[in-house]
Amino acid sequence: MEKTPLEDWIAYKIGIRPGSLSREAIEQYQLARIRQTVALAKEKSTFYREKLSGVNPIKIMDYVQFSKLPFTYPQDIKENPLRFVCVSPKDIDRIVTLQSSGTTGEPKRLFFTKEDQELTIDFFNHGMRNLVGPSDRVLILLPWQLPGSVGDLLRIGLKRLKACPLPYGIVQDPEAAIAAAVESGANAIVGIPTQVLGMARHRKGKELAGRIKSVLLSTDYVPQAICQVLKEQWGCKVFNHYGMTEMGLGGGVQCSDLLAYHLREADLYFEIVDPETGQLLPEGELGEIVFTTLTRQGMPLIRYRTGDVSRFIPENCPCGTILRSMEVVKQRISGKTILAETDFLITELDEVLFSINGILDYQSTLALTGGKDCLTIEVKTERKNKIDPVAMRQVLHTIPAIQQGLERGTLEVIVGESCEFMPISKGTAKRMILDTREQQQRPSGIQHS
Ligand SMILES: [Zn+2]
Repeated sequence: MEKTPLEDWIAYKIGIRPGSLSREAIEQYQLARIRQTVALAKEKSTFYREKLSGVNPIKIMDYVQFSKLPFTYPQDIKENPLRFVCVSPKDIDRIVTLQSSGTTGEPKRLFFTKEDQELTIDFFNHGMRNLVGPSDRVLILLPWQLPGSVGDLLRIGLKRLKACPLPYGIVQDPEAAIAAAVESGANAIVGIPTQVLGMARHRKGKELAGRIKSVLLSTDYVPQAICQVLKEQWGCKVFNHYGMTEMGLGGGVQCSDLLAYHLREADLYFEIVDPETGQLLPEGELGEIVFTTLTRQGMPLIRYRTGDVSRFIPENCPCGTILRSMEVVKQRISGKTILAETDFLITELDEVLFSINGILDYQSTLALTGGKDCLTIEVKTERKNKIDPVAMRQVLHTIPAIQQGLERGTLEVIVGESCEFMPISKGTAKRMILDTREQQQRPSGIQHS
């Protein structure tokens, strides 16, 4: 098994000879960087000057002490992003505005210097080596036209590793994207799960079988059912990575063993905390991912709550790296809905619905109708009447919350099918079950009878 190329890259960044990187060296480096970041943030950002007023960075002697520092929440950035900025406006090279996926909530703005962007390119250059090498041709199904956008940085990173980037953009028409992949001789793809699924399940998707050797799916959560379809249809390896704009896009990527993500430890320090109490959790326990930037200048973030749920994997990866491994993210804290007093996750819907042949995407809404919960699922298919509604209901009934609701008679399930174009998530919006029940109750305060 090939060791993740991230390890030698991180050794280089830390200033250690390749092959002699140790956990102690990484931890020492990270702690020193944490002190520098806290000092920088306290000096330059009005938010942290206030927030960390009682903290002396040179007195942070270990990670337990560091874990006593307050968290930074997404809401803090939404409220006043400029208070986080540590450089003068002329040094800001790129501003990213993230739209909130909910029905309410203001956008979040993030600021990056040229050097910050360079860190991301460097990560792409080395992270992508897990799946492609020199002379590989990589179709980029992400926005790339804007300088500094995710696809643009990926393009530059791929050039540095001497692969050939083929920027394409968001997939509007799967057939055109398949044709572009064939014509350009692409043998690797980076894209958004449902869009790549749309290509694989298209009637012309078979044309890519045997041509594509690796696919990197890019979003917070990748349904395993989609990975399975791509593997079967194209005979390729499917890699997941973890990242969000706040992290500088990349947080970690799977090695060729396709198990955990190996983390970008020279640039980011990760913690797993109890989402309720905020306490650090013992190694291996599932909790909320929190990160601190170690090298960012424009807008460093300290103990940022991601809202993503995962855990560190204490066991060694078969690839033999000493880098930390994090389990593939399967859920978000906000993605949890309660139905019939049972947890109900979009990931559960994803796994059963995407495993049905013919389904390309879907939307799910929970509403109150006549005093009952009403779950509406509209699936997108290539042609009408592709899905057998009885079979679909059967698989939906395997989800515990749905089963409970139906047994109690408190839930109605409506399934529909559409070939219409669905609004495309641009890779930043998180997929979710749209739960309108609380809003329905709010205006009058009276439940339907
Ligand atoms: Zn590995």
